[in-house]
Amino acid sequence: MSWTAHHRKALTFSYDDGNEQDVRLIALFDRYGMKATFNLNSGLSGDAGAWQYKGAWVRRLDLREAAGVYAGHEVAVHGAQHLALPELDDAALHRELADDVTALTALFGRAPVGMAYAYGAYDDRAVAEAQRLGLRYARGVDASHAFGVQTDLMRFRPTCHHNDDALFDLAAQFRDMTPDVPQIFCVWGHSYELDGDGTWDRLERLLDLLAGRDDIFYGTNAEVLL
Ligand SMILES: [Zn+2]
Repeated sequence: MSWTAHHRKALTFSYDDGNEQDVRLIALFDRYGMKATFNLNSGLSGDAGAWQYKGAWVRRLDLREAAGVYAGHEVAVHGAQHLALPELDDAALHRELADDVTALTALFGRAPVGMAYAYGAYDDRAVAEAQRLGLRYARGVDASHAFGVQTDLMRFRPTCHHNDDALFDLAAQFRDMTPDVPQIFCVWGHSYELDGDGTWDRLERLLDLLAGRDDIFYGTNAEVLL
């Protein structure tokens, strides 16, 4: 956590699955000077399958064409095929994570250092396999509603999802606090939810509330956690 040399507060975002709406979301993060981590399923890249979330089309980006989209942000592992890790036998568990590490390394020219668990599902075996592959943090989906530094980074809990009822209370609390020890605000979600839920304005309000502050470090998950 090298940012702690000059800051006591860090804001980071974590978005899953690598869908088309990531393009609009990244433009928004860039406009507000914020950084995010995108957790990608390389084995589903460019998959022709499409589905609808509350009327919004959800399609995977083709990572071979879209790798540049993520420039300036972090890409991380989300499993090659978006499988629930506790349901896999040892060989399949290894393939699901190792294939994603290998593909993301080839696509983006550097080895990923973190991940988010698909469905937020993990067990001790999944944690051990992720660590064996060199991953140093892994995010679940269970909201902490807190900002304290966490010691178990392989079971990292985000502060909250972007739809959380407490989002703006937490944001105001984070903005106004003057802590003596490092504090981390981590918001997670899926970019397609912003289309389906009609919440682009709500997210932009959050960014507006927290942007451009000297006392907040804006970094990717790796920059903030490691
Ligand atoms: Zn996912």
